[in-house]
Amino acid sequence: MVSKELTCTALVQEKIALLKQNKYNTVNCLLSEMALDLAAKVDAKISRGERIGLLEGIPFGIKDVYMLQGTVTTASSDLLKQYKSAYTATAIQKLLDAGAIPLVKENCDSFGHGSSSENTIFGAVKNAVNPEFVAGGSSGGSAVNVAKEYTVFSIGGDTGGSVRQPAGYNHIYGLKPTYGRISRYGLMAYASSTDCVGPLAKSIEDIRIVLNVMSGKDVRDQTTVFSEEISEDAIGTPKGINTIGYFKNFIESKAIDAEVKADFLAMIEKIKSKGIQVKELDFFKSDTLVSTYYTLAMAETASNLSRLDGTNYGNRVESGSLKETYAVTRSENFSEESKRRIVGGNQVLSQGFSDAIYLKALALRDQILENFNKDFEEVDVILSPVTPSTPPKIGDSLKDPLAMYLSDAYTVGFSLGQLPTLTVPKGTATGLQISAAKNKDATVLKFANFLKEIV
Ligand code: GLN
Repeated sequence: MVSKELTCTALVQEKIALLKQNKYNTVNCLLSEMALDLAAKVDAKISRGERIGLLEGIPFGIKDVYMLQGTVTTASSDLLKQYKSAYTATAIQKLLDAGAIPLVKENCDSFGHGSSSENTIFGAVKNAVNPEFVAGGSSGGSAVNVAKEYTVFSIGGDTGGSVRQPAGYNHIYGLKPTYGRISRYGLMAYASSTDCVGPLAKSIEDIRIVLNVMSGKDVRDQTTVFSEEISEDAIGTPKGINTIGYFKNFIESKAIDAEVKADFLAMIEKIKSKGIQVKELDFFKSDTLVSTYYTLAMAETASNLSRLDGTNYGNRVESGSLKETYAVTRSENFSEESKRRIVGGNQVLSQGFSDAIYLKALALRDQILENFNKDFEEVDVILSPVTPSTPPKIGDSLKDPLAMYLSDAYTVGFSLGQLPTLTVPKGTATGLQISAAKNKDATVLKFANFLKEIV
């Protein structure tokens, strides 16, 4: 039932005003005109007494790495500062078709390169809970917009944790679905083998609805798979979840904060007290996970970003020869962090290095997958903290890139496994991650509902 208490136009106006004055640096570009046009159409539909869908008129945000025709898609970079999208990403188009209203292109780490949303030309995004701290990344602007209720939901992108970690840092839900469940067409490629479209929202129900709308096979992305719609009833009770597991070495690691560890173990006891069996599992060391992930992610991003040479896209800086033009364009327009990754990626792919580094990372990835397959013969769900520690102060992680890479210790493994993983704002200061076997996204949401009941 539509109550007609608030027009869609008034709602959109209110959210745009909040976004405009916000001091958290979440906005790369406001889509006011487009949003108000769409809102007027929804209002007209309501006044004609027509039925409207669940997402119709709902204002949402888009991480600034998705194509939306006619809008500027910058990837928070100098290189694409004025780049206008020529088409619309499949996931975003599906939301538009369902009547949702895009309000804003959101600030993020440039090309998804980062864990703090400081690697951006638009200024560091500030944490929604305490603005002295980072928002997390790379989908930091998206997480903060949802946390502050500037958007009802936002669409982030998760390659190694970029939806889950900022969701944890800003106390909201954030889902990395099974790889291939949602089309990547129109999402600027970072590491194609782990890139996932992921929703951030304040409730499990919102995550479910948005996930259903965006899912599906797409001829434009050959890695997409068919998936069943997830109904509200199917995830209402924990029926079928009898055993969960957690990685012993994550919790015993020296890097974990004492409080995160104590809170996590207290959660485990609580879950046991509800009659669910809990198993300790063995897993690869965090260092191995992080180095495997960064080897592959850097290799893939070096290849993906090689097309950005100033010829077809973005700012071109003319120089002496064509080759020099490429070099100067790229060196002036990519951030230090992106350049570090491009150089690292080309290095691990180059002759003489690729056998020892790149191929080794691929082999390790296979072993990680085997490990997960074995685990999911024994447990229905794997629970983990999202991060070993709480968010750093703005500025601190820029001083130490290696420390920043290690803050992804608990998220990257599930990316390499292409598993569905959800951050819930419960359990530890930066939340908990729930993972299940491939394509069992419903199990993840089901367990989230159970946790909501018991915490
Ligand atoms: N922090 C990780 C990285 O920088 C993950 C980023 C992401 O998922 N886009 O690679």
